[in-house]
Order: sequence, then structure tokens, then C-alpha cells
Amino acid sequence: MAALPYIVGNWKMHGTRAMLTEARAIDRAAARFPKVQVALAPPATLIFRMRDAVELIGVGGQDCRSEESGAFTGDISAPMLKDAGADFTILGHSERRTLHGESDALVKAKAEAALGAGLAVILCVGETEAQRDAGDAIAVVAAQLEGSCPRTDGAPEKLSIAYEPVWAIGTGRVPSIEDVAEMHAAIRAKLVALYGEGGADVRILYGGSVKAENAAELLSVPDVGGALVGGASLSAESFTAIIGAAALLDAD
Ligand code: PEP
Repeated sequence: MAALPYIVGNWKMHGTRAMLTEARAIDRAAARFPKVQVALAPPATLIFRMRDAVELIGVGGQDCRSEESGAFTGDISAPMLKDAGADFTILGHSERRTLHGESDALVKAKAEAALGAGLAVILCVGETEAQRDAGDAIAVVAAQLEGSCPRTDGAPEKLSIAYEPVWAIGTGRVPSIEDVAEMHAAIRAKLVALYGEGGADVRILYGGSVKAENAAELLSVPDVGGALVGGASLSAESFTAIIGAAALLDAD
């Protein structure tokens, strides 16, 4: 049975308690689209309150440390996210890889810690513009998957991959539909090589400047199982339009 389209908002470092109003509105909107799975990843400071404020949507973190506890000032562990009410965490976002120097090995350790704590994982991969221009996009993403995908006991049921071309994040630029299709097929092949049959069921999200205007087209690409949305997830109005586009697609 095909999984529901999964639409996830990454709020990055945006949002104080006042933004819970948007989360509640998104939650109410999600109730109108039961054939779409919806989630938000707010700043860690909002996870606990958001969990209480919403009923239907998933709530998650944007990162975690691989250790469970210890002298790591400023960091948050996977069991802490779980304890705060998170269902999942985003890991390996390009902003973490670039601004915090996160390696594939570190992302893998974090993913294994998150799964071990009972969290689902959205693991991000994606090439830079220079890598795409050099014709290396698929090789770069395959290497990221090879290095950062967690080892799992059985099928990686709680793992999703987000393909996010670095040059498309927050820029208003998106790859061509053909390039998205080619990359998602390559990611699928790599997941099957890594996990066997279980790799066929891992959801692969597209992320990078998804808006109401382009969502339907991007979500209709084979092997695009949803979207990871940054800027357009900060308002209930624009995020709901994307959820609505996913719902229409499912009804076809
Ligand atoms: C993101 O950072 O995960 C993202 C997809 O951002 P945006 O939608 O703003 O490009």
C-alpha cells in the first residue's frame, strides 16, 4: 500500500510562542486533508508546547546529538527530543552540514541514535550548484547516502530521505522536473542497494523552494513521496496550500 504523501515544515530558527497560532491553524487544516501526513519541525524550544497545542500533525526536531547525555553544552540528545514530545527529527540538513561542519559519519551516528530513541528520521542530502554544474550531482548524493544512512536491524521503516539541492534552498529556484525525477530514481536505487527490499518503501521527499505554485508538479514526479518545506511552512496559509496540492494528487 502506498504511503500517504508526507508534507513537513522546517521552521529553522524561526518562531516563539506566538507562532503556535500558526501551528494550530496548520493542525486544523490538516484535519481537512486526512490523506496527507503533515508535520512541523519547530525550534527545539517550541517542541513541548507545540505537542500540546496540536492534535493531528507530527512534531519534530531539526537536529540531535548522537550521545544520550554528557558535557555537551548547548546540545540536545535524541532521548531529550523524544521526552519533549517529538516524533521525529530532521538530520544532516545542508545548513548543519555547511555551518556546523557535519560529516556523513556524524549524521549517520545521529541517525542511529535517533532511531534508537524511537524517533523517525528525515535525513537530508543534496548537491551544491558547483557539483551539479560539474555533472557530479548523482555521485555526490549517492556518496552522502552511503556515508550517512543509518544501519538498521530490519527494514528502515522510520527513515525518510529528503533530497534538497543546496542551491534550491531558500532561493526560489527549483531543479527541472526531469532532474528531480532522475535524482529520486537514483536515490531509490541506492536505498535498495543499501537496505534490500526495505529500501523500496523508504519515503523520499523533495525540498528546496517548494511553494503552492510548484508543489503539485513536484509532488507528481515518480518517487517523490512528499516535501520538506522551509519558508513556505511559516504561514498556515502558504503551508496549507501545499498540503492541499498533495491531497489533490492523492485523490487522482
Ligand atoms: C529547507 O531548508 O529545508 C527548505 C526546503 O527551505 P525552503 O523551502 O525555504 O527552500
